Amino acid sequence: MPAAHSQSAGTAISPTRADDFAGWYQEVVRAAELATMAHVRGCMVIRPWGYRMWELMQAELDLQIRARRHSNVYFPLFIPLSYLQSEASHVEGFAKEMAVVTHHRLDSVNGVLVPAGPLEEPLVVRPTSETIFGRSMSEWIHSYRDLPMRLNQWCNVVRWEMRPRVFLRTTEFLWQEGHTAHDSEAAAMADALDAHEMYRTFAEDFLCIPTVPGEKSASERFPGAVSSYTIEAMMQDGRAVQAGTSHYLGQNFARAADIDFLDRKDERQHAHTTSFGISTRLIGAVIMTHGDDDGLVLPPAIAPSQVVIVPILRGESSGAVLAYAHQVAAALTGPDGINPDRVLVETSEQRATDLRWSYVKKGVPVIAEVGPRDLASRTVTYRVRLDHHALRTAGFDDLRAAMAAALREVHEGLLQQARIRLREGIHSDITTLGEMEQFFRSRRGFVLGAWCGEPDCEAALKPLAVSIRCIPQHLEAPGEACVVDGRPKRFSALFGQSY
Ligand SMILES: [Zn+2]
Repeated sequence: MPAAHSQSAGTAISPTRADDFAGWYQEVVRAAELATMAHVRGCMVIRPWGYRMWELMQAELDLQIRARRHSNVYFPLFIPLSYLQSEASHVEGFAKEMAVVTHHRLDSVNGVLVPAGPLEEPLVVRPTSETIFGRSMSEWIHSYRDLPMRLNQWCNVVRWEMRPRVFLRTTEFLWQEGHTAHDSEAAAMADALDAHEMYRTFAEDFLCIPTVPGEKSASERFPGAVSSYTIEAMMQDGRAVQAGTSHYLGQNFARAADIDFLDRKDERQHAHTTSFGISTRLIGAVIMTHGDDDGLVLPPAIAPSQVVIVPILRGESSGAVLAYAHQVAAALTGPDGINPDRVLVETSEQRATDLRWSYVKKGVPVIAEVGPRDLASRTVTYRVRLDHHALRTAGFDDLRAAMAAALREVHEGLLQQARIRLREGIHSDITTLGEMEQFFRSRRGFVLGAWCGEPDCEAALKPLAVSIRCIPQHLEAPGEACVVDGRPKRFSALFGQSY
C-alpha cells in the first residue's frame, strides 16, 4: 500500500520516545484519547477509551479478588480526623497530601459565596481507608470465629499532588483497596503475600508487564505497616513504576482501632491486619511499557476493541462492502469467538487511512480493512499493531483462527519484548557509589547491588533521585560490600529512579 498519509513517512507521535520520553507520554495519552488533565488542577478526566481499559482490568482483578474470598463493600469518602490521629506513623506519612473538609455550607456575602458552618471535627477525604475499615471491623469482630475477615473496595482516593502527571500522579485516582483481619501473624502474612503474588501474575499474564517482586525497605514502607511488598515494573526509559503493593500491618491498626477478639483460649487479642491496592496508575505503566512512536500498543486483554474493521466505502460497491464488513465481524464473534463488544465495525465518514491511523494511535491489536477487492476474493486484509506497516491477508473461512493467532501474537510479543527489556535493564556490575552516580547520570535502568541495610545509605542516594525499589525475592546481588558505603552486605537491593 502506498504511503499516502503523511504519518507513514515518520512517526505518528511527536516527540518520539528517544527525543523526549515525558513529552511522548503526554502525546500518546492525548492521541489515544485516554484522558485529559484540564479542568481541576491535579485531577484527570478519564475518557471512554481509557476508562474501558480500567474497567477491563477491574473486571479481571475483581474476579481474582473474589476468588480469594474477599467481599466487596463501600465505605464513606470522609474520614474523621480523629480516626487518623490514632495511628501516629500512618497520619505522619499522609499528612502532607490530605484534602480536609472544614465547612458544611456556603453563605452568600455581598453576592460572593464563602464557606460557612465550620465542622466540629474536620473530615479528611480518604487518602486510603485502613482507619475507617478498622473502625467497622472493631464492631464486627468479636471472636476468632469472625476471622479471617476479608473486604475489598473499588473507589476513588485523594492525595494532594504538587507535581501532577496524568495516570501516574493525580490528586484523585481510582483504585482497589483490600483490607483483611486475621487471628495470627502467620495467617495475615500469608494473605499479604498472596495478594502480592496475585498482582505479580495479573501484571504479567494480563497486562504483559513483567515485574520484580520484592519487599520495601523500612523507609519506603507504607506508613504504619510492619512490612510492605511491591511489584516494580521497568518503563522503556528505564525508570520504575511501583505497580501494586500489599502490606502486613501487624497489630498497629488493630490497636489503634480496637480490633480485638476472643481467641480459642478465651483470651482477648488484637487482630493482625493487611491491606493491598492497585490503581489507575497501571494505565500509565501499560502506556510506558508497550507504547511505540506511533502511539499506544495494547495488550489484547485490556484492548477496548481487539479488532477494528474499517470498510473502504467508495461509490457503488459501498453497500456490499459494508455488508461484508458486518459479515466479517459476525464471523469473529459468537460462541468461542471474540466478545461482540470487542469487535468494532468503524463506519464514520472519514478517509479509511485516517481511521486506520487513529486506531493505530489507540493501540488496537488488529486493524482490518475490507474493500471491494476483499469482497470479490472473500478475504480480509489486516494489520497487527506490533508491525502495523505490514499487510496480511486471511480467507473468510480462516478468519477466526487468523485473528485468534494475531491476538496471541500481540500478547506474546509484548510480553517477550518487556521481559527482555527488564532482564537487560538490570545491571549488577556496579560496586561503588561513584559507579552508581556515573550510571544514573548517563543511563537509566535498575541496579542490583549489595546493601548494608542502613537508612543513611538510602539517604545518600536521594540527590541522585535514586531509591531502593525493593529487596527482590528472586534476585541475588553479587559482592559482599554495600554499594554505597562498603559496609558488609545484609540485603540484595534493587536501586532505581521511579515515577
Ligand atoms: Zn550501606
